[in-house]
Amino acid sequence: MRACSILLVPFFEGERFYAEALRRKLTEIFSLESFWSSPEPLSLESYDMNRAQYRAFDLLRTACLRKENPMQIVLGITEADIYEDRLNFVFGLASAFYHCAVISTARLSNRFYDMAEDKRLLFRRIVTESVHEIGHTLGLEHCPDPHCVMHFSNSLADTDNKGYRFCPNCRRKVDISLASCHTES
Ligand SMILES: [Zn+2]
Ligand SMILES: [Zn+2]
Repeated sequence: MRACSILLVPFFEGERFYAEALRRKLTEIFSLESFWSSPEPLSLESYDMNRAQYRAFDLLRTACLRKENPMQIVLGITEADIYEDRLNFVFGLASAFYHCAVISTARLSNRFYDMAEDKRLLFRRIVTESVHEIGHTLGLEHCPDPHCVMHFSNSLADTDNKGYRFCPNCRRKVDISLASCHTES
């Protein structure tokens, strides 16, 4: 059983250059096994025609249904632009109660801003947003340290500035939250 693991749920078909590297990076950062599931289709019911965006919570819930056991963390990954009420967009959304989250790579790509793609930078941003949302699923809140991955990102500049590492205080919270996982085997 894949208890205490991370399940990555793609809302897209086919290979992505970052897929295996992201899986390995998350395993390294959280000391948990991680896996990609089969793709999940994007439901038209989650689409807001007026905004041309998908509702983040709908995707989070859909990804969460793939959860294999209560101890598993689920992270949905979409290339569609996503939003939550009262916000123009979100990079991601998480539920600490369900240990489920979703991120969107749409606004992490330079192409969104009519700039040339930078795969190395895109990968770093995807890792940063993934680690941030998984941090929320473990109960962590936003951190005042601008170089901590749990710092709130309002823009890509914030994301690039903070990187994907936890400050010592947040790292301690992650370790406490995962303590039962790491003593199991
Ligand atoms: Zn956050
Ligand atoms: Zn922190």
